[in-house]
Amino acid sequence: MADAPILVWLRNDLRLSDNPALHAAAATGRPLLPLHVLDDTTPGAWRPGGACRWWLHHSLDCLAQRLNRRGLPLLLRRGDATVVVADLIEETGAEALYCNSACEPWARRDERRIANLGIEIHRFAGGLLFDPEHVRTSSGTPYRVFTPFWKAALAAPTPGPPLPTPASMVVPARVPVGDALADWSLLPARPDWSGGLRAAWQPGEPHAQDRLAIAVESIVSDYSTFRDRPDRAGTSRLSPYLHMGEISPRQCWHAVLAGIAAAPAAAGGGHEFLRQLLWREFSYHLLVHFPTLPERPFQPKFAAMRYPGTSADLRRWQRGHTGIPIVDAGMRELWQTGWMHNRVRMIAASLLVKNMGVDWRLGAAWFWDTLVDADLANNSASWQWVAGSGADAAPYFRIFNPVLQGRRHDPDGTYVGRWVPELARLPARHIHAPWQAPAPVLAAAGVALGATYPFPCVDLARTRRRALADYRALSGSAPATD
Ligand code: FAD
Repeated sequence: MADAPILVWLRNDLRLSDNPALHAAAATGRPLLPLHVLDDTTPGAWRPGGACRWWLHHSLDCLAQRLNRRGLPLLLRRGDATVVVADLIEETGAEALYCNSACEPWARRDERRIANLGIEIHRFAGGLLFDPEHVRTSSGTPYRVFTPFWKAALAAPTPGPPLPTPASMVVPARVPVGDALADWSLLPARPDWSGGLRAAWQPGEPHAQDRLAIAVESIVSDYSTFRDRPDRAGTSRLSPYLHMGEISPRQCWHAVLAGIAAAPAAAGGGHEFLRQLLWREFSYHLLVHFPTLPERPFQPKFAAMRYPGTSADLRRWQRGHTGIPIVDAGMRELWQTGWMHNRVRMIAASLLVKNMGVDWRLGAAWFWDTLVDADLANNSASWQWVAGSGADAAPYFRIFNPVLQGRRHDPDGTYVGRWVPELARLPARHIHAPWQAPAPVLAAAGVALGATYPFPCVDLARTRRRALADYRALSGSAPATD
């Protein structure tokens, strides 16, 4: 068909700038039909969690407006992506589909199935700095350890400069009927629990760019000093934008390098920040090469791990009622804002798995539902890292002590006081372990343990010993000291 459009299949790349698939499709000069498919029914796909569905609604809304201003529609269809694309080939006569490659197992499966529909499929690298298929060890195997992966990535050709938004995009003569975004019910209604998300975030490509500009201007230079401090705005908070592809890692990479060139004093923090972007790359590399990462321990010996924790333990942790202040602060921050600081994610995950004895997959599932940046690669790799079962995992004998971690990374107790207000009047030296505070100190701060705030749900020292014994039995080696 002479005026048949190109289908531009947008997934976790909901942006106009530095979008290689959109850019290449526009460069053909043919009419474009941008498409997003919501597949929340096909078995094997991870249905987006509640917080991500909220984000997705606003992200699609923003993208649709930006496309509409250029005369283009954003076609929304729900269902199995292969069926949706087959229908659209029939309805529009489309002969080509352009997309940026995705790494989730079901997304790669969809790409393979669509390629069999007889449509030309053009795939581009848009979501990562380095192609996970190409970064390999000298023997051609995938990397399993971060540091050599990072060195190999740094030795590879530097990621090219980001692409601009296409200058012109040809509008299709006819647009098939699509779904109305509101009919997808991505926003919570009864009850509407999204007030905290609305207060904390503004999804969409322009806001992603603003967030990057703030990071380059005022966060990156002190990143090495403050990145582990949940009481400070020491990290970029770009993760949900990166997850949804409202900004590309290449845009972040080059903006930070430009920031370093303009202010060389920022080089230390800047390079540390780029290293974190490479942890993201490493997670995707693992997911591509080990697609069972979300479900099975990366190191098979951990399949025999016993998890004595109960569903009541899991609920206590989810609600931020463990009696361990830094963990409760993190879990409440997560519930209210859809985000938690990285250091606190590590401490909270360690408490759940190693002290409370709950399977890491149950913690990962809670994060999947509540994080605005819930990301299959990063979430799965990080939980396995904390649980000790992952690639390049935290050694099993490293069990975070949440009291010491709290004192080190939230020295004034500001973070705990913000999210656990019932402890806010405790002096800093007691706020991370209220059960050790003298009775008059507790009384003066209005804290009644067991009434206004719970006692710790576990004995940290005893559960640490139990976890060490279990891990040692599985790993077959003697532990080093913590
Ligand atoms: P910054 O410190 O500003 O870092 C910049 C970017 O680098 C981040 O936006 C992120 O894309 C990437 N990054 C930073 N740290 C890591 C890391 N450790 N691993 C991989 N990428 C990283 N991150 C997610 O994006 N989605 C998840 O679902 C997720 N689940 C996690 C679960 C656990 C148990 C843990 C310990 C970590 C998890 N992380 C996850 C990684 C990390 O906590 C977040 O990426 C980070 O807190 C996001 O905040 P930021 O954007 O301010 O990060």
